[in-house]
Amino acid sequence: MRQVKLGLWGAEVSELCFGSLAVSPLQGRLTETEGVNVLRYALEQGVNWIDTAEIYDNYKQIASAIKGYPDVLIVSKTYAVSAKEMRLSLEKARTALNRETLDFFLLHEQESALTLRGHAEAWEELMRAKERGIVRWIGISTHAVAGVRAGALQPGLDVIHPILNYQGLGIVDGNLQDMLAAISFASELGIGIYAMKIFGGGHLTHDPKKAVDFVRSIPGVQAMALGMSSREEVDYNLLLLSGKDIPTSLQDKVRHRERKLYIADWCQGCGRCLEACPQGALHLSETVAVVDPEACILCGYCGRVCPHFCLKIV
Ligand code: SF4
Ligand code: SF4
Repeated sequence: MRQVKLGLWGAEVSELCFGSLAVSPLQGRLTETEGVNVLRYALEQGVNWIDTAEIYDNYKQIASAIKGYPDVLIVSKTYAVSAKEMRLSLEKARTALNRETLDFFLLHEQESALTLRGHAEAWEELMRAKERGIVRWIGISTHAVAGVRAGALQPGLDVIHPILNYQGLGIVDGNLQDMLAAISFASELGIGIYAMKIFGGGHLTHDPKKAVDFVRSIPGVQAMALGMSSREEVDYNLLLLSGKDIPTSLQDKVRHRERKLYIADWCQGCGRCLEACPQGALHLSETVAVVDPEACILCGYCGRVCPHFCLKIV
């Protein structure tokens, strides 16, 4: 698999990063063991880094998967605001992943300079952790153009994980051109960039080659995280990235698996999921939550706030 360097001073990694949201309890598609098996299969095929987050709640799963793979790099993310919360997040990750040193640690879903200012204490603590050798590279993930621009100017930042796909789906504050300009700005500063949601949360899977080729064509974007929840999806993505033909039988198994957000009929209409959706894809109709499938990128973030466990990606 193609190896890349993340930015001017970043890690050497495979072009494909395993997006582990797809195997995590947050999305609830697989059991923990099934997820471990898919992760291990991808590592055996040469994927050498895994993207997770504290809210995915799958550190234990990843710790099992990476046994025997000490060189696999892990990215995690936190919503920590204060220094104390950041310390707790770092310790939780170190303990649960059984790693003295964390590879990448990011602030999750930073939307703008304002959001980053609100997390200033946590960021400073993260920089101290980097100085002390507890973390090797630090950064942010974002669905926003302003997040990329602000992240690029954040002191000590090494890596940005932005949303990027050829239709600009899921960008919360601008269009594709705005995002490309922001990415170009960040990459000129030497920052490593790996893209998320390159298939637009499932909306662009009808032409996966176009989706991959687009991301590869953007100067300054070195890698991409793809969610995978089966061995077939791992095989499919590896063939896709290698430019080899994908057997029709494999295409049939993978490409036509439409996914959607399922909202259980016991929804109480409390509205908490609406606030948690970064895409504004949910609204209340009468007294139940309703999703706009065109706007939903299947991130699963709404599911974690529902007190009645109504929301699931199926
Ligand atoms: S509705 Fe839920 S899964 Fe869809 S984009 Fe919003 S938070 Fe993500
Ligand atoms: S959080 Fe759950 S109960 Fe509340 S509106 Fe959303 S789906 Fe319904």
